[in-house]
Amino acid sequence: MLYVSKLLLKCFLVIFFKDVFSQIDYNKYFTSSRLRIEYTLTGNKDTTIVTINDWYKEDHWSGPYKNLVDTLLWGNYYIQIFDSIENRLIYSRGFSNLFYEWKFSSEAKNTTKSFSQFFCIPYPRSTVFIKFFERNYNQSLVLLKSQYINPNYSKIAIPIKDKFYFPYQVKNTTNKAIDIVIISEGYTRSDSLKFFEDAKNMTEKLLKMNSLKKFSSKINIGFVFQSSNEKGASLQDGKTFKNTNLKSYFYALGVERYIAIDDYNYIGRLLSNIDYDYFIVLVNTLKYCGAGIFNYYSIVPSDALFKDYILYHEFGHQFAGLADEYEEADEYTQNFYNLNAEPWEYNITTLVQFSKKWKKYMKKTKNGTYYYNKKLNVGLYKGAGYRSEKIYRSSLLCIMRSFETLDFCFVCSEAFKLMLNLNIDK
Ligand SMILES: [Zn+2]
Repeated sequence: MLYVSKLLLKCFLVIFFKDVFSQIDYNKYFTSSRLRIEYTLTGNKDTTIVTINDWYKEDHWSGPYKNLVDTLLWGNYYIQIFDSIENRLIYSRGFSNLFYEWKFSSEAKNTTKSFSQFFCIPYPRSTVFIKFFERNYNQSLVLLKSQYINPNYSKIAIPIKDKFYFPYQVKNTTNKAIDIVIISEGYTRSDSLKFFEDAKNMTEKLLKMNSLKKFSSKINIGFVFQSSNEKGASLQDGKTFKNTNLKSYFYALGVERYIAIDDYNYIGRLLSNIDYDYFIVLVNTLKYCGAGIFNYYSIVPSDALFKDYILYHEFGHQFAGLADEYEEADEYTQNFYNLNAEPWEYNITTLVQFSKKWKKYMKKTKNGTYYYNKKLNVGLYKGAGYRSEKIYRSSLLCIMRSFETLDFCFVCSEAFKLMLNLNIDK
């Protein structure tokens, strides 16, 4: 009897999950265009308010046509799109952003600020209902905003003219590929050739990444050049602001090497007529810096020492939502993780829900103790997520921990695979 009911339950679950997650008919709900939704996040340490400002019809949706509903639930923010007639979940994705990190800074304790943002979804055929969630300190997704969006009220995006787009490597149709664009920042008009050379070198390095190289036939790469009036980035010397196209700056959140771009919306406008799923900003600088935020951006230097390591590390954050596996904390990261909750990032654990992470890859003794799996090089090591105690990683060495290796550990590579499978149509 138990067997029968278990079997029935299994059948029910298979049908249920198939219905909810796999059977979204793209063409029934969406056209081949892209909808870019511009919004503002306003708040401080304790509050967040979402304001949807406008939405734009753009040329072409370059993301997947399958796996429209995301089952991973990664990211500090999460959007769900419902068909307004059937009330059916037809699209969802998670992401993080600079605003969430800023909420942990000392400035956010007594200052309220707004951050301009955007996200893209496939272009809906009729009115959709959007739910916008933020992850709280206990790691639960909390609904911040729900709103109808009628595509009839879309504006048409006017492409920014003074940029040059060069599709460098086109390996597959956009839904069967990860489309990455590399954008220039702090390159003057006379630096255009340098940018293309730097972007070419970066592409070669990116395709050699141990977590990506098997998929290199499914990666399209384009370059976007827009000239700046000045080279480099603001606050490179700690005091001078520069007139660059994306207005990047050092000392973000009080950390010298942390480079950031506040006007995220501008990048959405810059790429309005270009196919992309991910973008990496390449900054024309010798100075050591970097930034990578899940499904948001990577910012990397063109000529700094360890630039290849920085690229891999930041792209790990951006593409696979990987957490830092090191211990040192900066001012804003010291309380970033709640030790009583399991972080959503795949490569670190507080052991609160270790079964959601790499527990299945570890060896197990007869008395139930988990230990190091030599074949996969998967273990449990203290020190990760800016803490030397109570947060763990799976490997001694990984590019998300230190520059002693250019490789991602097994668990980080698994996170890459999960994202690749989610976002590339078979
Ligand atoms: Zn790792």
